[in-house]
Amino acid sequence: MITNSVFVLSKNGKILKPTTPVRARLLQSQDQAKKLKLFPFTLILEKSVDENVEPYLELKIDPGSKITGFSLVDLNKNEVIWAMELEHRGLAIKMELIKRAGVRRSRRTRRLRYRKKRFDRKKPDGWLAPSLRHRLLTTETWIQRLLKVAPIKSIVIESVKFDFQKMETADLEGIEYQQGTLWGYTLREALLEHWGRECVYCGKTNVPLQIEHINARSLGGSDRFSNLTLSCEKCNQKKGNKPVEQFLKNQPEILKKIKLHQKKSLSNAAAVNSTRKAIFEMAHQFELPVISGDGASTKMIRIKSGLPKQHWIDSACVATDQIVKLRICQPLRVTCKGHGTRQAQRVNGSGFPAIASVKKNSVTGKKEVKLVSKNQKYTHATAGDYVVCNLLKDRKHVKSGIYRARVKTPTEKGVEVLISGHRIAVDRQHIKLIHRADGYEYSFATIDHDLLRFNAI
Ligand SMILES: [Zn+2]
Repeated sequence: MITNSVFVLSKNGKILKPTTPVRARLLQSQDQAKKLKLFPFTLILEKSVDENVEPYLELKIDPGSKITGFSLVDLNKNEVIWAMELEHRGLAIKMELIKRAGVRRSRRTRRLRYRKKRFDRKKPDGWLAPSLRHRLLTTETWIQRLLKVAPIKSIVIESVKFDFQKMETADLEGIEYQQGTLWGYTLREALLEHWGRECVYCGKTNVPLQIEHINARSLGGSDRFSNLTLSCEKCNQKKGNKPVEQFLKNQPEILKKIKLHQKKSLSNAAAVNSTRKAIFEMAHQFELPVISGDGASTKMIRIKSGLPKQHWIDSACVATDQIVKLRICQPLRVTCKGHGTRQAQRVNGSGFPAIASVKKNSVTGKKEVKLVSKNQKYTHATAGDYVVCNLLKDRKHVKSGIYRARVKTPTEKGVEVLISGHRIAVDRQHIKLIHRADGYEYSFATIDHDLLRFNAI
């Protein structure tokens, strides 16, 4: 299988097992099922079937700042059967808000009635900046959408980079000799990050670093994260099991730095990315088990599975200790586009209300004023909708044929659609609505056959 599994609902709307694209096409051609939704592709059966399906899928999420990876993993086979990458628009939101702030600032200095200043208001607890909140909300939307069509048993979210809590409590006996284990790897990554990828004693970089106990184990030092650091082999041997104070007796600055860092490592346990934490907490509302994963283990499992770095693949590798297998190699790409603007009155380049557009008549050369109406009459399709359109004749840049396209503007006669970057006007009788505008743009990543070939070994 290459493309995502197809979700199937029963005649009565109950969630059934997702099926393969091939079977989905067969069901449709034999009139046994109809398309219910295009994105994510969902069928509804026409005949009655056994509706008892035990949830067997795990929804796995890897929240990222620009792209969040989603995948559905078949728990019986540990295989990815459906995946998606959600591209956020945090930066676009930020820029819009800066624009709005500019408009408001100018309004405040105009000669108007007194307005109370509104800027240093106290932010409520758990407040997130709009660009971050959008990440939380769009992730919530997609969890909701998937729960409606897939038999999901549990939700897994990568909520921290390093799980310090686990690291402080896990049995780390002799861990420095087991770099191949999940914990050995996680611990090493966390230490590298925390101590800046250099030998703490001599500051050498780009040398193999060993895990080093600040208070030697023979002197009662623990295996906890807060007692560990990294040093080069030379320094490690030189220090041996001397107390750190004695070893660094002539280098008080380094000793001070180590002590300071040691203290910081404990507070680090609480330092998690606020958006990820919020996403993890939000997921609890769905009354399913919510499992947390850490980024270091995700990376470890992905490398062990021999898979490249992609957001959807990462999501499948969250919080598991088994090799991840792929049954697909082409995730759905969803881009957050927003719902346009709520600005009631558009302005022209000089900031004046744009009520009319002036056009030169190409024949007479006279200027003609065309009113821009607020509520343009539109057909059943509106801006942003996905339609199938039938072009009967060749157009300037586009050949005749049947196209799937997005509506750019509704017109008096029908719509203008975008086909390979060109605006094409199509009459209303030649378009068919297939997916209503919902603030997202959909596409598919390019097929990467190597992914499956490699994984099949
Ligand atoms: Zn050293």
